[in-house]
Amino acid sequence: NNGVVIIGTGHAGVQAAASLREEGFDGPVTLVGDESDLPYHKPPLSKAFLKDANAKPQVLRAEAFYTGAGIDLRLGSRVAGIDRSARRVQFENGEALLFDRLILATGSRPRLLPATAGLANVLALRTVSDARLIRERAGKAENVVVLGGGFIGLEIAATLSAGGRTVTVIEAQDRLLGRAVAPLLAGHVAERLATTGVKLLTGTTVERFESEAGRIVGVTTSAGERIAADMALVGIGAVPNVELAEAAGLAVGNGIRVDPQMRSSVPEILAIGDAVNFRQWHCGADVRLESVQNATDQARLAVRTIMGHGGVYDSVPWFWSDIGDMKLQMVGLIAGSDRAVLSGEPGENRFSVFHYRGLDLIAIESVNRPADHMLGRKMIAAGYSPTPEELAAGDLKATFARW
Ligand code: FAD
Repeated sequence: NNGVVIIGTGHAGVQAAASLREEGFDGPVTLVGDESDLPYHKPPLSKAFLKDANAKPQVLRAEAFYTGAGIDLRLGSRVAGIDRSARRVQFENGEALLFDRLILATGSRPRLLPATAGLANVLALRTVSDARLIRERAGKAENVVVLGGGFIGLEIAATLSAGGRTVTVIEAQDRLLGRAVAPLLAGHVAERLATTGVKLLTGTTVERFESEAGRIVGVTTSAGERIAADMALVGIGAVPNVELAEAAGLAVGNGIRVDPQMRSSVPEILAIGDAVNFRQWHCGADVRLESVQNATDQARLAVRTIMGHGGVYDSVPWFWSDIGDMKLQMVGLIAGSDRAVLSGEPGENRFSVFHYRGLDLIAIESVNRPADHMLGRKMIAAGYSPTPEELAAGDLKATFARW
């Protein structure tokens, strides 16, 4: 009995290890990852962790959990290859490990800009080591340029700006958060960030990176403006870590392809989290989601598949982001939305946008309205769609309860 080997100690991998024990799996469980820190929460890295020079990473589980649960946690171990037929993983240091089932939870990594390769003060944020470096460098920087107006870039921009840095965000698309949220919400975020002093340049690219002695000192934008920079942060999205899967001959396409039970094209190898591409039940499209909810829910399901009582992946996706004084919460996916109904007051920095496809409620985006978000998760999971009139009448909770 070679048990289960899990590659990746992020949100997905750690949840899979924990779920194996919760579901009563009593064989060997080995959790391996190339980072050396005890597995930790990633979301605070662009938020609270950057603000406070003394903040420590928030661990996902205490060290005693792994020993107590009989989980063999191998940190600082990079897997170099998978031999499918021998059911063996090969470590970079030459060691090897046999498995009965393998779970790939290899996550994603920041997409980098080739033009800034080798510049020591151009950084990207994924791991706690990245966050430590950014925190240290930002402490000494005056002018920070953020390349990319997505969630991570804007969270960092808001945090560093509140800490007294002069921050400029450069975004190629004509609005912020282009991939993830609807224009109304993106417009609100832009307005609010601008009033706190973050300079936002949308519809703008970098024409020229100016460097001295291997360090960035400024950029010239496509509009011809020169912006001084003591450091730059690249936040232009993430790419899935699929190389191991690809080399092992698993089906891959913007992520490791999995079926609704989280099995890859080789049934004894499952895959979960940011690294995975799957058919989403609600919108009917193939997607790759980058969220804690997706990573942990897929981990739980993969374990149920291994235990033989699988079900299918039908979780309602949800996500949050904290940008300055805005708590953004999203439930559902806005793709396919043909009507958006506003509830609440953008002027008060508290509102939600309800997205419909035809008569069906498919997503809700909220700013500082956690109750809408929590109710939204229940409504969308239940397939309940309030009419716009019911929305306008208020007390959605009671309307939903009566339904
Ligand atoms: P990861 O957490 O990336 O873990 C994968 C692990 O596998 C990594 O440790 C990696 O080094 C390791 N690995 C890869 N290849 C190998 C190999 N060959 N050998 C050994 N180890 C390997 N989500 C939200 O829902 N809300 C938020 O507010 C939010 N904020 C975020 C802020 C930041 C700064 C970041 C980076 C992410 C944020 N996310 C947020 C996204 C969320 O953190 C990810 O969706 C989640 O971490 C995915 O978990 P995962 O386990 O799939 O991948």
